[in-house]
Amino acid sequence: AQAHVDAVAGARALNAFLLETPERALAMAEVADRKLAAGEARPLEGIPLGIKDLFCTHGVATTAGSRILEGFQPHYESTVTHNLWRDGAVMLGKLNLDEFAMGSSNETSAYGPVVSPWRRRDSQTPLVPGGSSGGSAAAVAARLCLGATATDTGGSIRQPAAFTGTVGIKPTYGRCSRWGTVAFASSLDQAGPITRTVLDAAIMLTSMAGADPKDTTCADLPVPNFEAAVSRGVKGLTIGIPKEYRVDGMPAEIERLWQQGAEWLRSAGARVVEVSLPHTRHALPAYYIVAPAEASSNLARYDGVRYGLRVPGKDIAGMYENTRAAGFGREVKRRIMIGTYVLSAGYYDAYYVRAQKIRTLIKRDFEEVYAAGIDAILTPATPTAAFGIGEKADADPVEMYLNDVFTVTVNMAGLPGIAVPAGLDAQGLPLGLQLVGRPFDEETLFSAAQVIE
Ligand code: GLN
Repeated sequence: AQAHVDAVAGARALNAFLLETPERALAMAEVADRKLAAGEARPLEGIPLGIKDLFCTHGVATTAGSRILEGFQPHYESTVTHNLWRDGAVMLGKLNLDEFAMGSSNETSAYGPVVSPWRRRDSQTPLVPGGSSGGSAAAVAARLCLGATATDTGGSIRQPAAFTGTVGIKPTYGRCSRWGTVAFASSLDQAGPITRTVLDAAIMLTSMAGADPKDTTCADLPVPNFEAAVSRGVKGLTIGIPKEYRVDGMPAEIERLWQQGAEWLRSAGARVVEVSLPHTRHALPAYYIVAPAEASSNLARYDGVRYGLRVPGKDIAGMYENTRAAGFGREVKRRIMIGTYVLSAGYYDAYYVRAQKIRTLIKRDFEEVYAAGIDAILTPATPTAAFGIGEKADADPVEMYLNDVFTVTVNMAGLPGIAVPAGLDAQGLPLGLQLVGRPFDEETLFSAAQVIE
């Protein structure tokens, strides 16, 4: 643990950690040492982890990457982190993220962007680690921790994993409890791990997952032995390649990597067939209605009374306005405005109801493919490799949203998806592939991802 505490302190230039908790790490490591010496090791005994600062941690400041939560110290622990500590893991600190997990580059954080440890072969331009779990991905890629918690509402585990050459899995909606995790879009949010290897992801998810009476959307299902699934292979499985994911302007190297991934699975004994998910092109616009709608509702609670920041005003309404004006950043305000607009009486049917209908169609596309005997679907994880800090931040926000084109569908359908590193581009930057599975069949994803890794 001391080595990791030192590594974290030595890598502050990455801005991956918002808060380091060395005393807590060393105290937890001491307990771990005792357990190990007594032959009573728990599944994650002494494993140093970073925690995305969207998970509430008892007595440890939690910001969600926002000024509006400044000074907020939860008096409760999220179920996911509670499960990790129960199993012996050690907390190194809280990791940077896009504000309220809204973003794809970690540039919307109120505490500054995270710098990826990767560089292009021919330039020193600092690159984004992806987002919103950018701190998690950068910390794992830079070897500051063995694994990190992350959350994924529309790609925030898988896209940063792909940008940093790490493994990230968004489990099925309901596999991990959302209790104590700051809410963005409650019907889409899921927690999951970012790790260096598929095996580590399987071990960490086993600990994070499981039924929780505190979250009624958390599935009351036993957690399978994900670790055992990793070495199972893909013999006899059928993998689908969705033709609608061949989007215009896809870089040739991503296209090649995708074919290469299919080839690896084929030579390991899987059957690879083309499939159709006809409503794919509607997923991104529908996501950017549903997610802001839910966000505008979830973020109504930050009013200067209950949490963190308070900016006085001439009356209580003035205090609300001043607090929210000062506390929220540009992207969060944009989402709140879009969300309240699409939920307002005059526009509700035209936008929100239609987006929900599209969501149902997207879900059915997957159901039909799985009913036809497909075990998992293979796609690229992202449309490009990592880009430079500032390169897209000031552009049209839609350009940033396009990063999520391959990942949001999976959240809309509530399915599990894993991003696994599959190769490097011409600049030496990591590229990832995504596997999407049946509901609650993360095991097949671990088996197939292991073949690609
Ligand atoms: N980039 C997407 C967004 O900004 C997804 C974020 C996430 O998964 N938390 O909404």
